[in-house]
Amino acid sequence: MDPELSSLPYPEGKQGAFSLTFDDGITSQLERAIPMMNDCGLRTTFYLGLGGEDWEERWAPWREVAASGHELGSHGTTHMCSRVLRDHLKARSLEDCTLAEMEEDIALAAQRLRQLVPQQRDTSFAYPCYQTHVGEDHNRQSYVPIVAKYHIAGRAGRSELANHPLTASLACLSSWGGERAWGPTLVGLAERCATEGKWGIMNFHGINEGHLTVAEVDFAELCRHLQLHSDRIWTAPVAEVARAFVDWREAQQLQ
Ligand SMILES: [Zn+2]
Repeated sequence: MDPELSSLPYPEGKQGAFSLTFDDGITSQLERAIPMMNDCGLRTTFYLGLGGEDWEERWAPWREVAASGHELGSHGTTHMCSRVLRDHLKARSLEDCTLAEMEEDIALAAQRLRQLVPQQRDTSFAYPCYQTHVGEDHNRQSYVPIVAKYHIAGRAGRSELANHPLTASLACLSSWGGERAWGPTLVGLAERCATEGKWGIMNFHGINEGHLTVAEVDFAELCRHLQLHSDRIWTAPVAEVARAFVDWREAQQLQ
């Protein structure tokens, strides 16, 4: 534990926290990731894009996922990213977007998420493409305050840092990309969180699927490790760890 800390925000005996997050609701998450995590007793967060006329029908199978203890989070309704990630100017991008438009997007997604999983007290948000701004250059503005208004936590990216209980910005949390990662690398990151008393967040998309894939064998190695060491490493959904941080911070101030 960090010598600066006299206690940690984690449940009894746990030295650090780890969240395995999945974006975009793709098939291999339902077919591969969820059965593997359920077998190992691990719960996590799935970020769903809540746009389109058919959002309710599209995400109906995920209600069962939430009922088994996983968190469903918001990935907005438009998945708007910076144009620098594309080689054309045809689609709207964060550079063309205003804060008011972004708030409309985030508020609508938050309302739909509440409809989908009304039992979830706290909800979290994943920034599409890990980007946290609208506009560009002299007009560039952060939309982190909007995420903070609607959600207990926001998962940004990508950084070498894990989130420290005292200093982490809950609406702009650091995360690591898990795509193409080797099993021992993933295990090492989880162990580093336990050693440092921090909260690490991994981002995944597909398991053996898509261009941001992680191999099933590597993901399985991570899940087995987290199961075997669940006495020390707290694997939990993002909103749940964020709530523990909020409560712990409040308790520290009362002392
Ligand atoms: Zn996405």
